[in-house]
Amino acid sequence: MDLIKIGKFISLKRKEKGITQSDLAEKLYITDRAISKWENGICLPDASTMIDLCEILNITINDLFCGEVVDMKENEKKLEYNLLEMTKQKEEKDRQLLHFEIVIGIITLLFVFALIITAYLAPMDDWVKYLLICISLLLVVMVGLVLTKIEQVAGYYECNCCHHKYIPTFLAINIAPHFGRTRHMKCPKCGKKSWQEKVISK
Ligand SMILES: [Zn+2]
Repeated sequence: MDLIKIGKFISLKRKEKGITQSDLAEKLYITDRAISKWENGICLPDASTMIDLCEILNITINDLFCGEVVDMKENEKKLEYNLLEMTKQKEEKDRQLLHFEIVIGIITLLFVFALIITAYLAPMDDWVKYLLICISLLLVVMVGLVLTKIEQVAGYYECNCCHHKYIPTFLAINIAPHFGRTRHMKCPKCGKKSWQEKVISK
């Protein structure tokens, strides 16, 4: 809380009303010194005086604490705008993540394919061949887990029955039968199992 700003605001509002510090003190049954202390940002009016002070100066308690007149409508608009911007940013990020998933998936598949082809065709010791195949399998499993994680957190799944949109658990994503990104899962809201599609917007 900015005491100096609040002090200046009290002083400004008092002058706008055309009353002196003594007038205000008299109206509030306190000393001029107290008013001077508030206006110099030394302290705040106590709770019981605050309500009367706001009434005299024709401001809200919220205005007093902010040290300025707060336009509620403007505030709501700002909040709405910020929420909308945040949603847009999340959607954009999710979209990028899902593209990234496809790119990583393709690169991994090509790499693994190349490793396996090399293991079969190139002249090398058997143990090297097995090692290459093991590395390929390990890579597939690890990248698979990362990609499933992306699919879990980017965007939402939409229940085909009640159209509830939600983020499933990592386990649910992993055990669900799927076709592309569409997965057969149980909806946490209606409890029915259906083929659920991935959607970006809530
Ligand atoms: Zn449902």
